[in-house]
Amino acid sequence: MKYFILFGPPGAGKGTQATSMAERYNLRHISTGELLRKEIAAGSELGLQAKALIEAGELVPDAIVEGMIESEFRTVKDVAGFLLDGFPRNTAQARDLDTILAKTGEEVTAVVSLMIPDETIKERIRHRAAIEGRGDDANESTIANRIATYHEKTEPLITYYTTGGKYNEIDGLGTIDEVHDKICRLMDTL
Ligand code: AMP
Repeated sequence: MKYFILFGPPGAGKGTQATSMAERYNLRHISTGELLRKEIAAGSELGLQAKALIEAGELVPDAIVEGMIESEFRTVKDVAGFLLDGFPRNTAQARDLDTILAKTGEEVTAVVSLMIPDETIKERIRHRAAIEGRGDDANESTIANRIATYHEKTEPLITYYTTGGKYNEIDGLGTIDEVHDKICRLMDTL
């Protein structure tokens, strides 16, 4: 199996690009944010635990998202690999992912990072709030905290995966089609 990580700050276009990437390369798209939003909508115990943290722009506990990821890895077989979107979100999750994959003698294939400047992050999130109505997109203090959380907890992964020789960065500015083309040119080499 191949394990691609779609990386980038909130609003970089990961969700938008993931659908066409998953289709083109026969990958199962796993968005931990989407899985968590489904749990919240279903009113599950896990959803209840996650809700307040998501609304505050904080990360949910590592064990929760790692459990969801492992269960997808175990159950999904009929694909060429996985496209992880929104996971890992900190270095502990990245290390745990390495451990999970090592159990089956596997490893992360590559990281595809969509990079946009800070000033574009807020613009994109506000635009998405108007279209998708995500609660954590509508509140200014939540948005600010998600950006701070990204810089503090998630950005160090760039060093983690660069050191591991797996990090590939793409300019996330431009139209959806332009970014899609850049992603495909890179993915074709991986
Ligand atoms: P996303 O849809 O990826 O922007 O995720 C929305 C929210 O879900 C994040 O702001 C976090 O609160 C939570 N979340 C998603 N993925 C993770 C993860 N890998 N680790 C911790 N929290 C996560």
